[in-house]
Amino acid sequence: MNGSPFAFSVLHVDAHSHARRSEFRTPHGTVPMPAFMPVGTCGAVKGITPDVLRATGATMVLANSYHLALRPGDDVVADLGGLHRFMGWEGPILTDSGGFQVFSLADAADVTDEGVTFRSHVDGSLLHLTPRRAVEIQENLGSDVAMVLDHVISLPAADTDVRDACERSIRWADECRRAARRPDQALFAIVQGGLDPELRRSCARRLVEMDFPGYAVGGLSVGESPDEMYQVLDATCPELPPDRPRYLMGVGRPQDLLQAVRRGIDLFDCVIPTRNGRNALAYTDSGTLRLRNAAHQRDPRPLDENCPCPACRHSRGYLRHLFMTGEMLGPMLLSAHNLTYYQRLMAEVREAIEADSFMELYDEKLSRMAGAET
Ligand SMILES: [Zn+2]
Repeated sequence: MNGSPFAFSVLHVDAHSHARRSEFRTPHGTVPMPAFMPVGTCGAVKGITPDVLRATGATMVLANSYHLALRPGDDVVADLGGLHRFMGWEGPILTDSGGFQVFSLADAADVTDEGVTFRSHVDGSLLHLTPRRAVEIQENLGSDVAMVLDHVISLPAADTDVRDACERSIRWADECRRAARRPDQALFAIVQGGLDPELRRSCARRLVEMDFPGYAVGGLSVGESPDEMYQVLDATCPELPPDRPRYLMGVGRPQDLLQAVRRGIDLFDCVIPTRNGRNALAYTDSGTLRLRNAAHQRDPRPLDENCPCPACRHSRGYLRHLFMTGEMLGPMLLSAHNLTYYQRLMAEVREAIEADSFMELYDEKLSRMAGAET
């Protein structure tokens, strides 16, 4: 990455696990890793202004090129100065390629080696996404990190289908690499291969030969168990070059983050802190709280007395009241709290890795999380 605005450096590897304390420099700032990216699907983290987002401790956010290409159109975003200006976020942004959304949200009509034809989930119109077009969309958006187009399938699936999708994803990764033009955008590859460790390993090796500036593990959180996901990471992470960032896409729960960091993952995104926040589920160090439960009605305590977020200036009783009366402030505050919880967790993780005490933090957090209210 000589002369590039991007640089990735591993500052320290934990003495008792594969956890890495690293930093990723991008044109819009440096991301301390391991890091968690809040998800701004349509160019907004639901219910969260950029100022609040920054205050949660987030340094990098994710946006979805599939959604933005449909509405308002990647050309519209480009005309309005690019995605950073459009959404008012000056920090680093990662966009995904649309592969996951095309195969999960749209009616994927036809997949060929050239690309995928699908019906928009918005208006039913027929659209075509190719590796070249996926790169074009993300270059129009101007994100710091772009993702290759991949063929995501839901699990469990037949071996031949997993293998075909993996082969196609590798070819598409190469096409994306050849199409990419912007020197201020890093294109990350995505390792596929379902739950087959050998297929995951060979996919990783072939992508590494193409020399991408970063690697993602994709095709997870699509119906497999947590243990199956951890096994995929056990197979994949050792194949990835130690001097490039590793990103686990779409995962997950706080315990999944700890499990993945332990195995050497640096970067995450997931909708669950915000989605659960909108549904009155709060993350705390003693597990999750369901704020609609009557037990919280007269509780004067904040969710977490050490949390600096705006929700924690209020009582659990007040937050419950907001949800019971359908006030929009409830989902907004709880989303801010959950995002703050995730960022504080990652800050603790980074500190623990530096002190070679990550496994102590891991054991302590996992045993506390077992006390979740359901
Ligand atoms: Zn809070």
